[in-house]
Amino acid sequence: MENIKEMRTWLNNFNLPHPLVIAGPCSAETEEQVLKIARELKDSKVSIFRAGIWKPRTRPGGFEGVGEIGLKWLQKAKAETGLQMAVEVATAAHVKLALEHDIDVLWIGARTTVNPFAVQEIADALQNTEKIVLVKNPVNPDLALWIGGVERLYNANIKNLGVIHRGFSTYEKTKYRNNPEWQIAIDFQNKFPDIPLIIDPSHITGNRDMIFQVTQEALDLNYDGMIIETHIDPDNAWSDAAQQVTPTRLKQIIFDLTIRKETD
Ligand code: PEP
Ligand code: MN
Repeated sequence: MENIKEMRTWLNNFNLPHPLVIAGPCSAETEEQVLKIARELKDSKVSIFRAGIWKPRTRPGGFEGVGEIGLKWLQKAKAETGLQMAVEVATAAHVKLALEHDIDVLWIGARTTVNPFAVQEIADALQNTEKIVLVKNPVNPDLALWIGGVERLYNANIKNLGVIHRGFSTYEKTKYRNNPEWQIAIDFQNKFPDIPLIIDPSHITGNRDMIFQVTQEALDLNYDGMIIETHIDPDNAWSDAAQQVTPTRLKQIIFDLTIRKETD
């Protein structure tokens, strides 16, 4: 990748603050749930609302997302609150539907980044887009695979790119759901200092009590933003219940964070 200097500018071009805050439920569940959460996040430090519409479940049989109807709920939430909308896309068909429904930000999930064919399919479907596209690290600790995913998008003339650090799978049980392996993200940051780096403490910790600490660690490492799963009723969420926080708790977390100035 050459000329990556231009990348950081999308944060300014889209008028996004530092640090960037993305928040919303793991999954869109009902229209009411989406609208309630979005209303709570309006007029806060949150700029982008996230919600999974198609959920990549490790094993079949769980809730796999509401699908296309959820995109209509997000359009409604955007019209009412002014928040930009972000969804995960894993196929060209997802991309087409997301674009048809004016989704602002598309992210590639950790189970998709591992698959070069899938990433290429998404890159082809998004060719030349000016939308913001975020690439989560692959589930396995492989820096080259993460960089390769970003390069496939960059080569498709997609320039408003960022990356999300969501931790890495391990067979051993640790205090984290996905081990942060900070060094991998730091290596990415050192290699591509102009690609915005966003922390996903929700999927790293799997535990709402650890969200603040991991987010603060990332900000201390000069990350550009955070994506935090936020739900109106976390304990009863249809996916990732243990790690979601309420909108009130999210606001407290953001208030308590020590934020370094960009110029520090
Ligand atoms: C998610 O963001 O809800 C998700 C499925 O994340 P990941 O791809 O990091 O597992
Ligand atoms: Mn989730």
